[in-house]
Amino acid sequence: MSADVKPISMPVVWSDRHAGHVPGAEIWVGVRTPGTEVPERAERIRAAVEAAGATLIAAEPHPDSDLSAVHDHALLEHLEHAWVRWEEAGLTEDPGQDRVVPYIFPTPGMLAGAEPGTPAAMSARAGLFAYDTMTLIGPGTWEAARGAADAAMTAADLVASGAGPTDSAYALCRPPGHHATREAFGGSCYLNNAALAATRLRERLGGPVAVIDIDAHHGNGTEAIFAPDPKVLTGSVHVDPGAGWFPHFLGFEDTDGEGNRNLTLSPGSGDEPWLDAIARLAGWARASGARALVVPLGVDAAGGDPESPLDVTVGGYGEAGRILGELGLPTVFVQEGGYVLETVGDLVVATLRGFESGRS
Ligand SMILES: [Zn+2]
Repeated sequence: MSADVKPISMPVVWSDRHAGHVPGAEIWVGVRTPGTEVPERAERIRAAVEAAGATLIAAEPHPDSDLSAVHDHALLEHLEHAWVRWEEAGLTEDPGQDRVVPYIFPTPGMLAGAEPGTPAAMSARAGLFAYDTMTLIGPGTWEAARGAADAAMTAADLVASGAGPTDSAYALCRPPGHHATREAFGGSCYLNNAALAATRLRERLGGPVAVIDIDAHHGNGTEAIFAPDPKVLTGSVHVDPGAGWFPHFLGFEDTDGEGNRNLTLSPGSGDEPWLDAIARLAGWARASGARALVVPLGVDAAGGDPESPLDVTVGGYGEAGRILGELGLPTVFVQEGGYVLETVGDLVVATLRGFESGRS
């Protein structure tokens, strides 16, 4: 770090447990592909923020009951036990599948209004909770997801406690969370870390709390969780799902609701439209009287990311941080996507530095 660059002053909350989650693959259109949500992502980000002078804080364990603020018991029960049940059912031997992968989904069309029964076969039960075939469960997945949730809740607790000068914190979460809904998981996400942070800030600081999701993909899980809750506003800027991008079925610009804004970008969009959208979401949060901010921080909008066609620069991420910092709100950053190992750390550092420059 050169002498003329200030160290990152906000605490970085970290859990070693992320490393146990090795997805091993994503099943895309029936084909086993290597996948991009790998443990090294978090290690690269950690190295970069430490090199930028940040202090790491270990995630505090929180009881499982705290997760119920955001998720249904049935989903939590499934995520915790799915791997052991998969093994016990012999599916690792026959047909030889070493991760939990669904094959049948009780879609609204199949059910035609009926309530689904509870399948006896573990191979079928997986489809009750997963909404894609990309988000596999292995032996360390639950522990890692719990560690990420603990990191997000610890960061929110730090910001909400009012102790000392900490009015912002960064939860270096892995796996990510913004695609997980109250009842289901997908998009490489299991537990919705950002929603857990927002819920705690709302409880401690009062509402409204604004969520401004700057990941390249629509934060559909967070939007769905807070749709019935006027005290948490959800805004998201993302690549247009209508142009062929995950989550495909949700996040269209004309689906704005009372407490929700979706701003979509065409493939190839760079800094200017992306930052304009973030400025609009920041203005909306300010006009709504937000008292705290949660930023699901995906750095997969950067040019060259294999998971999105957006073309934001590292300078653009710094400017996004500055815009969000100027809101002057107690703020929790929660790590979401970002899949280029060589640049993921620099993009996060640029955002956090930009935020702190906007503050001062
Ligand atoms: Zn993403």
